[in-house]
Amino acid sequence: MRLDRFICESTELTRSLAKKAMHRGEVCVDGEVIKNPATQVSEGSRVTLQGEPLVLVGLRYVMLHKPAGVECTARRTLYPRAIDLIDLPMLERLQTVGRLDVDTTGLVLLTDDGQWSHRVTSPKRRCGKVYRVTLDEPLEGSRLDDAVRAFAEGIVLEGEEKPTRPAELSMREPRVAELVLYEGKYHQVKRMFAAIGNHVVALHRESVGPLALGELAEGEWRELSAEEVAAF
Ligand code: URA
Repeated sequence: MRLDRFICESTELTRSLAKKAMHRGEVCVDGEVIKNPATQVSEGSRVTLQGEPLVLVGLRYVMLHKPAGVECTARRTLYPRAIDLIDLPMLERLQTVGRLDVDTTGLVLLTDDGQWSHRVTSPKRRCGKVYRVTLDEPLEGSRLDDAVRAFAEGIVLEGEEKPTRPAELSMREPRVAELVLYEGKYHQVKRMFAAIGNHVVALHRESVGPLALGELAEGEWRELSAEEVAAF
């Protein structure tokens, strides 16, 4: 691979910062200062930055059981960030695959593989996300029938032009719904229930496509297996 890519995949430097470091003579390959970012290096090459050896980290794929009060954001805010719960090197490179609201709990995927992230979130791939939704008001009888039909046909949310994609609604208890979405608009679940005159009091994501939280406890995380990564 190119030397600038090697540096990006083994440090938190962007490609332009990697090039600048090379330009300053801070990068050596097998003991020789290299300034050309296009220089090819292999896994066996000994690459150093300011004298420190670099190790390729590669692409990471993680599942997290997000607790409430944790934000899916890269910038630092009042809340802890999802990446702050994960113990891996070069965390700043990991991004959440889509987002859950700060008060929503459940399955969040994180990766530094932008293409994989796109595959998981693209509505065209029809990767179903299952939410357990606790409602303020029970949803039963004809109001439930109407809601099931409306969500299956798609509804136009406030401030949007296009209707939501077909979604599957069923009830587990009078106040606990299961909703399967194939897209991820801003506050989508809360806005969909608001549109039918109800209110979401608690929201939990149980699964994304073939991946479910299983036994993973709240606040815990694990890396995905190669099979799980390939399943998308
Ligand atoms: N829909 C919401 O309203 N919030 C979430 O966190 C996820 C989906």
